[in-house]
Amino acid sequence: MSRQPVFYCSICGQELLERESACICSFCGKQEQGEWVCPNGHYTCEDCRLASPAEAIERVCLETRSQNPREIADLLMRHPAFKDHGVEHHLLVAPVILAAFANSRQTRVDKAKIQSAIKRLVDIPIGVCGSRGDCGACVGAGAAVSIIFGSGANPAMGRSRALRAAGSALLRLAEMDGHRCCKQSVYAALETGWHILGKELGSSLEMGKITCGFSHKIADCKKGKCPYYNE
Ligand SMILES: [Zn+2]
Ligand SMILES: [Zn+2]
Repeated sequence: MSRQPVFYCSICGQELLERESACICSFCGKQEQGEWVCPNGHYTCEDCRLASPAEAIERVCLETRSQNPREIADLLMRHPAFKDHGVEHHLLVAPVILAAFANSRQTRVDKAKIQSAIKRLVDIPIGVCGSRGDCGACVGAGAAVSIIFGSGANPAMGRSRALRAAGSALLRLAEMDGHRCCKQSVYAALETGWHILGKELGSSLEMGKITCGFSHKIADCKKGKCPYYNE
């Protein structure tokens, strides 16, 4: 006798229950009739389930009302297209900062800005943190600041601000010795990028203490040596 398939919630890891009901997608907010539901109320719509990392980032960032980039990043890093480590983490930081920043200003983020942020980060190869002292996640903090201040290559418009955000994020990550961890890189980039953005604006942007939501599932987690380690 063949066994019923078992599926797990990508957000909380609970076994999904086969139960047809009206569901709201935890990623994009779309309502649809679902067949598999999480006992904790999570649901992923078909379009989100099949989305690439870039598509998932766009769908989530355009829908979220969160003013906290860490919350948005944590949700996205639970999307099925996000693995433990990988280049998809490079694409994440700038869009979530742009979305949270727009929400904190009671506006909505432009789709064109999210797409521009992703385009700026998409060509960074994997592993460049070790091979050239770069990190796509940290550079994402620079891309977010560049887009917010419209700096581009024009020094008068704030090129230095983008460099400061990316450079500070890289230095923060460098302090966290040891092998690479893409979750740690994202958190370091968000923490620094958000702080620098607040400083550049002359106000303070809060996101609360970061505790890693993935410590238990990352095989080579640095545990107590990581400032974001969650026991
Ligand atoms: Zn769940
Ligand atoms: Zn969805």
